[in-house]
Amino acid sequence: HAKKLRKGDITFYDEQIREQLTQRYNIETGLKRAIDQHEFHIQYQPQASLKTGKLIGYEALLRWQTAGQFISPDDFIHVAEESGQIEQIGLWVLKQVLSEMQPILASDQSLSINLSPRQFHQNNLVPVISNLLNKLHFPANQLELEITEFAIVSNFERAIAQISELKKLGISIAIDDFGTGYSSLIRLRELQADRLKIDKHFINQLNKSDKDEQLVEYILMLAKNMNLSVVAEGVETQVQLSKLRELGCDAIQGYVYAHPMPIEKVLKSEHSVLFCPLAEAKHG
Ligand code: C2E
Ligand code: MG
Ligand code: MG
Ligand code: MG
Repeated sequence: HAKKLRKGDITFYDEQIREQLTQRYNIETGLKRAIDQHEFHIQYQPQASLKTGKLIGYEALLRWQTAGQFISPDDFIHVAEESGQIEQIGLWVLKQVLSEMQPILASDQSLSINLSPRQFHQNNLVPVISNLLNKLHFPANQLELEITEFAIVSNFERAIAQISELKKLGISIAIDDFGTGYSSLIRLRELQADRLKIDKHFINQLNKSDKDEQLVEYILMLAKNMNLSVVAEGVETQVQLSKLRELGCDAIQGYVYAHPMPIEKVLKSEHSVLFCPLAEAKHG
């Protein structure tokens, strides 16, 4: 009987792997056509200051729609990273975002773009970005690049060098999904990053788990000590918002303020949708 069960398990496991491999193959094949077929577009998610309640910038988020189906970046970015396609896709993102936002972005707003680990460590990244900024007349001091802790710990010495080159151009650096990786908090100081983005997992747990609340508090304390500004991502409720304000967090990004939106909406909604209710929350 036991033998039979195991055999069944293996078959099931086998099928699962086959399914995963097929899905992966389909994604990789699909990605080859995605740029030429115009299947990518960018959405922009507003960020607000918790001090002034005002819009301070946007994060650019890649969207892929193929054969009428939407595929999440969480499902395809890592495939592109492993296959190497991310270099080409990442370049497309940089060009697209910088050129379409250049005429729109106000001078007191910032624009954040995600870099995958492989893209971040790419040899010609700095000259490529520098050339793009010049060609598109995009002010370097309004650009922020988001890298994850993994991109940093995978090659710390190189990461320090790369960040320092990018900072020489005037670009800001944010550490994305902070708290989920393994970066040593002490070595963080050597990085010269400008912002930490607290991962949404911890924000989600605010007021649910004391441990996570303490962790958020700790990150904020640490950041203040190191002169880093902090953005909380994935803020969904007023309760989380108030808590973060109370704890002295600098800025938020999340559904409670605004969802990611297509560029047309960024253009139109500056006064209505992006109106920030935070200032009122203080009194009421
Ligand atoms: P991320 O950089 O941490 O981006 C934040 C993610 O949280 C986005 O997911 C955003 O849509 C989502 N989000 C924002 N507010 C809320 C909220 O209130 N609640 C919840 N539950 N989620 C919220 P998205 O757009 O699906 O992107 C997932 C990840 O894919 C990103 O995480 C980033 O790591 C990666 N990614 C997206 N665009 C790019 C890109 O252009 N290049 C690279 N290399 N990676 C990208
Ligand atoms: Mg990000
Ligand atoms: Mg993040
Ligand atoms: Mg993430």
